[in-house]
Amino acid sequence: MRIVLLGAPGAGKGTQAVILAEKLNVPHISTGDIFRSNIANGTELGKKAKEYIDKGELVPDEVTIGIVRDRLEKPDCKNGFILDGFPRTIPQAECLDEILESMGTPLEYVVDIDVDDEYIIKRLSGRRVCPGCGASYHITNNPPAKPGICDKCGTEIIQRKDDNEETVLNRLKTYHLQTEPLIDYYRKQGKLISVDGRLNIEDTTRSILKAVGVI
Ligand code: AMP
Repeated sequence: MRIVLLGAPGAGKGTQAVILAEKLNVPHISTGDIFRSNIANGTELGKKAKEYIDKGELVPDEVTIGIVRDRLEKPDCKNGFILDGFPRTIPQAECLDEILESMGTPLEYVVDIDVDDEYIIKRLSGRRVCPGCGASYHITNNPPAKPGICDKCGTEIIQRKDDNEETVLNRLKTYHLQTEPLIDYYRKQGKLISVDGRLNIEDTTRSILKAVGVI
């Protein structure tokens, strides 16, 4: 199954992508994770991406699209994928359509996880992530079993640098300006599914799986 997850920062795309990828047995592709691992490894790409990420801006399309194209050509994407955080602009969406069409495997579903700004701000201030495996937690809504330690890999969890209030507000502004128009883009293609992202994690997963016809 070929699925894109849309939604504001903090809507729950990453959390749902990990669960859906496991249930549907397809890779989880997160451009944010790819950038963060490049930053951690000090690569040229990481250095370039960091300038934008730290300000809450988008990494330029010409950088981002190439990375996704290379990733989608890998054999593990043959049976599908969950794209999390890409596309984020209309040109990215147009290129994605072109790439997938040339491979003869068009997108099937675009799931918009809908959450309002006020909720997002509350959620992101309590978000903690695992730098080891990318798992996501919330200090009150979804804490790890042992405080401060990732349930999955035992690494100490941290707050993302771009989850501070000033950067969050900028990321939300960027989202409304550049990414929200994708909702209409995919609605016109008849691929859009909208789910309420204020539900708890399990109920959000269930409503996505129902909407894509898996349950
Ligand atoms: P995320 O983990 O998806 O919230 O992404 C973290 C940051 O990485 C974003 O705020 C952007 O600066 C950058 N980023 C991730 N995906 C994209 C994309 N598709 N296009 C441009 N920048 C991106």
